Amino acid sequence: MPLGMISQMRDNNTKLVSKRCFLVTLFIGLSINVVITYLLATIQDPNSWSGDDEDVTQLSLNEDQAPKYLGDLSPSFTEAYKYTPFSKTTDSILISFIPDFGVDRIEYQYESTAAPTASQTSTDLNAIPSAVYITRYRFGFPMRGQYWDSVGWTPGGGRAFFDRYSKQIIERAGTHAGFETPKWWPISTENYRMPIRPSWSGFILNTLFYSLICLFVYCSPRFLRIRYRRSNNLCISCGYAIENLDTCPECGLE
Ligand SMILES: [Zn+2]
Repeated sequence: MPLGMISQMRDNNTKLVSKRCFLVTLFIGLSINVVITYLLATIQDPNSWSGDDEDVTQLSLNEDQAPKYLGDLSPSFTEAYKYTPFSKTTDSILISFIPDFGVDRIEYQYESTAAPTASQTSTDLNAIPSAVYITRYRFGFPMRGQYWDSVGWTPGGGRAFFDRYSKQIIERAGTHAGFETPKWWPISTENYRMPIRPSWSGFILNTLFYSLICLFVYCSPRFLRIRYRRSNNLCISCGYAIENLDTCPECGLE
């Protein structure tokens, strides 16, 4: 192969790569990330994690790192715990047989340091519970990149209090609470929700992770050769100049 042709081929390849490569691979990486995350969210029943089969570690978070969307509907943030499922349970397909793989759960606790008030039993509808919990179910691979939240609080209070408070909580949580699995979804129980909110660091790292794999495949010598040959009317199999023929006269490839 003459040197001129080699350098031309290189120029051509560089052009082909830079043109769409980054956008295409980024888009494919993003799609793979989201699809895998939703698959994880679908096959993993988060309620099956309760019990002995989980690792619990206390996270040292300050108030700024805890979700703040509940605002004045909750006491101040106190502590957070991370739950990592690590072994099979009987009632679910648990793919988290490796620690910290794909799914985990963080519980943020908001507790009033003052002694419990009468809010739980009083008729004061504007009172807030003495303890509120945000349980964040996080999904994604290799990092947890998307989540949905479930908000709970200390029981008590009258029916009217409960109804009013939970309505407010649902409004405040909004998309943090994810969305219900559609009816046509093969696996659908009330335990499953779809994570809609990204945890940006994990979301971006996952996207880059899959994009890099795509980029690696896209830029492999085999793919570069095929693209070069196609764009120059050469047979993609043997490299013979086929001009506008349908069948390669050299190797017979159609
Ligand atoms: Zn050929």
